[in-house]
Amino acid sequence: MKVAMFSTLPHDREYFDAANRNGRHELVYFEHSLKKETAPIARGFDGVCAFVNDRIDRACMEILHSLHIKVIALRCAGFNQVDLQAAHDYGIPVLRVPAYSPHAIAEHAVALILTLNRKTHKAYNRVREGNFSAVRLTGFDLYGKTTGVIGTGKIGSAFAQIMLGFGCKILAYDKYPNKALEHHGVKYTDLDELYAQSDIISLHCPLTPETHKMINQESIARMKDGVMLINTSRGKLISTSSVIRGLRERKIGYLGIDVYAQEERLFFRDLSEMLIEDEAINTLMTFPNVLVTAHQAFMTREALEEIAGTTLQNLDDLEAGRKLVNEVQLDVVQGKQ
Ligand code: NAD
Repeated sequence: MKVAMFSTLPHDREYFDAANRNGRHELVYFEHSLKKETAPIARGFDGVCAFVNDRIDRACMEILHSLHIKVIALRCAGFNQVDLQAAHDYGIPVLRVPAYSPHAIAEHAVALILTLNRKTHKAYNRVREGNFSAVRLTGFDLYGKTTGVIGTGKIGSAFAQIMLGFGCKILAYDKYPNKALEHHGVKYTDLDELYAQSDIISLHCPLTPETHKMINQESIARMKDGVMLINTSRGKLISTSSVIRGLRERKIGYLGIDVYAQEERLFFRDLSEMLIEDEAINTLMTFPNVLVTAHQAFMTREALEEIAGTTLQNLDDLEAGRKLVNEVQLDVVQGKQ
């Protein structure tokens, strides 16, 4: 199958070329993101492969349909960037990689926690400059603290298990509690109790109309003073202005984010020589207790191999007329929201 690969970076080419070493698909790599303005690039291709910050709305889908695109292969788990109703209306299957390495993202969430808490990023810079002072590097024991996990699917479960290993108490909120986690000592509760009791809160639920800006002024007010907030899921789960206010009022003690509401204009690009015209991210950068990584939580060797392998397997299945086990089903998604 001839596939236009959108939003690609060097590592995409490396891992997809390795997975496609028998040359069964013709993969053409583009740096452009997929949106209505760039969709005409897909002329002459059989399918498109897209990533987290592409915008495959109805207008984009209409163009893909007019170009006889047979498939949208997402090389990610989340599918909030796709208008599924439009895909359904135009009869274009949307395939994804539901699980590549939940550990990769869970472990990155823990990396954000440890860095913010123990300030290893500051210590690294200090020592490299010959400053061996330990002043203002004090953190806290994770042991015995309460960690709130919102969304205990694949990533949230892996995250909860790691935090149990630190000796944390785990409070969880999910519409579909995971019995196995309860056996390990995780306590399911409502959001009120989770917000009120947690020293650390980590978001692992998908972005849906219901979860959009779930972290807002009202929910932040219900949290503990000095709470540590971690988001490796989707930027729009958080109201950025509310979080900035929470940081200013010292209500939020630490913020660690791998995702950001307006990340499509920034992330995955080197803007180091540019003027960054995004007031909110510029403000966030001024806080010493904020750590931002640019959507890298999925980037482990294991995850990238799995993403490339499963994406190509999805295309193989489509070509061979096999059952599409990783198709995003509109009716299932609507039923779950
Ligand atoms: P998953 O489907 O296995 O788990 C999601 C869980 O959230 C499910 O248990 C679901 O019941 C729960 N949920 C749904 N609505 C909820 C709500 N309103 N409140 C609380 N829980 C709710 O998904 P996953 O593989 O664990 O991934 C979780 C999210 O992580 C993805 O949706 C994606 O946005 C994000 N993600 C980020 C990266 C990254 O690199 N930063 C990589 C992969 C995934």
